[in-house]
Amino acid sequence: MSRPFIGFIVGHDYKSKGAISFTGVSEYDFNLDQGSQAVDILRDRYNCEPAIFTKYKHDYREIAELYMAKGCLASFELHFNSYTKVARGLEILIRDTSSVETWKVADVFSDHLSEISGIKERHIMPTHDGILPIGRKRRGDVCLAGVFGAAKHTMLVEPSFCNTDNPDSRKIFSGSYPIFLAESVAKTFELEEKKVVSVPIDISSLASRIDKIEQRLGSARVII
Ligand SMILES: [Zn+2]
Repeated sequence: MSRPFIGFIVGHDYKSKGAISFTGVSEYDFNLDQGSQAVDILRDRYNCEPAIFTKYKHDYREIAELYMAKGCLASFELHFNSYTKVARGLEILIRDTSSVETWKVADVFSDHLSEISGIKERHIMPTHDGILPIGRKRRGDVCLAGVFGAAKHTMLVEPSFCNTDNPDSRKIFSGSYPIFLAESVAKTFELEEKKVVSVPIDISSLASRIDKIEQRLGSARVII
């Protein structure tokens, strides 16, 4: 697959915007802005077809249809955590019925995001290493279920507890989160970097052509 389709879904919607960060920005507004920038980075730097989606409530039908039409490799729904006490770390939520391959991909993505952002994974259970498997009707499952099976891998990203001012949430709000996301996705799927083709310009032949044109034009000058 040379140009895999990768989808980002903005968590929550324009009416119900989710948790409020320590900066006063909602999950919805933050992830719409940062996810859009991540898509731009991926499109500019890598051979892939990234896209970002918003939804209303839990209507995922059109997104799922498009994912299937495009043969979507992976879907990341973007959120951030919120808790009444100060809590730390990133976690990636997947459905507990996900394929073994998705468990592995989510683990690799979590490792990259942790390494690139400098935010530690939450060790929910000794074996889960940053991944939180979600059972039916548990927190996050309504989102994961919405596109489950429509993309090869579906997961939900909770990069940190952003409702409080803590070192993790400051990293996520530093302006670098689009780079954290884009680079983690690129590394996880080993996306090919776009080659920048530079065409050498032969100045001497250009100069001689201008000379010839000027001779033909007589006194008129060619200005470039
Ligand atoms: Zn959320």
